[in-house]
Amino acid sequence: MTKTTIFTKIINGEIPCEKLYEDDYCIAFNDIAPQAPIHYLVVPKKPITSLMNCSIKDKNLIGHLLFVGKNIAKDKKIQSWRTVINTGEESGQTIFHLHIHFLAGKTMKWPPG
Ligand code: AMP
Repeated sequence: MTKTTIFTKIINGEIPCEKLYEDDYCIAFNDIAPQAPIHYLVVPKKPITSLMNCSIKDKNLIGHLLFVGKNIAKDKKIQSWRTVINTGEESGQTIFHLHIHFLAGKTMKWPPG
């Protein structure tokens, strides 16, 4: 478990977001500083610090997050996208509440920087 982050405040409705989807387990919203024409985040309501800190009990939840993100892409008629889960400071994780980035709408480069 983690300390309260800005994502907890978004989940609790204390700060606004451009919400795309919500259910009992997660919320999805547009990233405030998009790195691609389409950039949204899927965030579990359970405040798991990072992928490294999820447990076997979270296995179905992790799959659910990916499935929700995929459904949003389908609704948006996106055919190609990149998913990113930054894990730990060196990877670029800045908010220590697990989240999956979905980025689309431009040609991506590989390898990532
Ligand atoms: P990461 O660097 O992987 O931890 O990603 C955190 C992401 O959260 C960044 O892409 C930020 O732009 C995004 N972010 C931070 N604050 C907000 C906010 N209030 N609403 C939406 N996205 C946010």
